[in-house]
Amino acid sequence: MVKEPKIKGLNEVGRYAIGIQWAADHDSIYPLENLRRACPCNACHGRVTGEVPPASIRLRHLSRMGETGVFLGWADGHETLYTTAQLRALCRCAHCVAEPERPITDSRR
Ligand SMILES: [Zn+2]
Ligand SMILES: [Zn+2]
Repeated sequence: MVKEPKIKGLNEVGRYAIGIQWAADHDSIYPLENLRRACPCNACHGRVTGEVPPASIRLRHLSRMGETGVFLGWADGHETLYTTAQLRALCRCAHCVAEPERPITDSRR
């Protein structure tokens, strides 16, 4: 198991994204739609596909839950709780996507 990463800062970025500043020297931006689609709750299973109504990707509430959780309350009443490890794994910045131990392309032919 990976140790739960620590969050230094959490903020909304405009109306469509949130930003997280990690204690371990990394900043992430998460579009709200991605966070809703990857919602790990028992109803969504991290696989929300198809059209997402606007109210489902509008944030009503954003807060930290202790050291290792982030709570998102959506305008449609849905609630999402992410662990920091889940959020860290969702980062799609150039640095994270280019991680050598997780190659994007399959080299087999
Ligand atoms: Zn959900
Ligand atoms: Zn990243």
